[in-house]
Amino acid sequence: MSSTSSPVRDCVILGSGCSGLTAAIYAARANLKPLVLEGHEPGGQLSITTLVENFPGWPEGVQGPELIENMKKQATRFGAELSMAHLTSVDLMKSPFELTIGREVVHTRSLIIASGASARWLNLPSEQALIGYGVSSCATCDGFFASGKEIAVIGGGDSAMEEALFLTRFASKVTIINRSENFRASRIMLERAVSHPQIEFLHNTLVEEVLGVEEKDVRGLKLFNRKTHERWELPVQFMFLGIGHEPNATMFKDQIDLDADGYVKTEHNVFVSRQGVQMHGVYACGDIQDRRYRQAITAAGTGCMAALEVEKYLEELGR
Ligand code: NDP
Repeated sequence: MSSTSSPVRDCVILGSGCSGLTAAIYAARANLKPLVLEGHEPGGQLSITTLVENFPGWPEGVQGPELIENMKKQATRFGAELSMAHLTSVDLMKSPFELTIGREVVHTRSLIIASGASARWLNLPSEQALIGYGVSSCATCDGFFASGKEIAVIGGGDSAMEEALFLTRFASKVTIINRSENFRASRIMLERAVSHPQIEFLHNTLVEEVLGVEEKDVRGLKLFNRKTHERWELPVQFMFLGIGHEPNATMFKDQIDLDADGYVKTEHNVFVSRQGVQMHGVYACGDIQDRRYRQAITAAGTGCMAALEVEKYLEELGR
């Protein structure tokens, strides 16, 4: 099979979440005609969230998907090109950088890595077998299917609280199962969940098995209390995961520096290195490099920074 190659691009952006699209807006306004590869989760985490109340400029809040849609419109209005095609491989040793997208090969002088982070799973065989049959990591996508059911939400951070609160619209009862004694959730989110009459809590509790594999339908959870060593079954018909995210950086693992958890190591938020030496023309932004703040506004901020660095770099190259 022959591959096709196109003229060298100035800027390719991997990912179409808040950071990638902000980078696209800035790069497009600098006339760099960026190509945005939307990735496996177009729109990133905002596209599967509900009301975003802390993005400045929206006093009443804004729905995550609406915010993303507006960012896409803004980026394409200035000349960004959005593509649903998937990156097959990347070679950052070559100059210009070489990206293989199916049968197409794209060369680019600069690359912004904004591929974000994906939902984490418990990785129990029974959980994996029941994904799509009552096990989900996306309350916004699948909440409707839990209508009238008793459900469990796993996790003790803001994601779990947000999911649980959202799911009370559908479920008859929501049990939040936290493996620790304490919660990582912010006080405001925790208080909202604690005061909700449909939400109950289990602490120090691990899920050992999701019941219903044979029936291809969640029937309950086998639970274990880490403190009392008690084991029991909780009859639920749906389980949602809200236990954090993994950075989508595996494709880069031999080509740029990642930390022990797989996040891209960056200097001054966006500069990427290889074996401790700063690379030219490669930048990372958003959740793939931010394990500390992980907010839409900080992702947007680093997206902006990455695009400004691309501009500077291309200027230095004489573009
Ligand atoms: P966090 O890392 O904050 O919390 C993850 C939770 O999942 C912890 O309770 C952790 O338990 C638990 N957990 C992790 N792995 C497992 C496992 N294998 N089995 C069982 N439990 C597990 O992640 P979040 O996604 O909740 O939040 C990430 C960031 O995004 C935070 O900064 C948060 O504030 C922000 N956020 C903000 C929202 C908003 O403002 N609307 C909404 C959602 C997120 P343990 O404590 O024991 O490690």
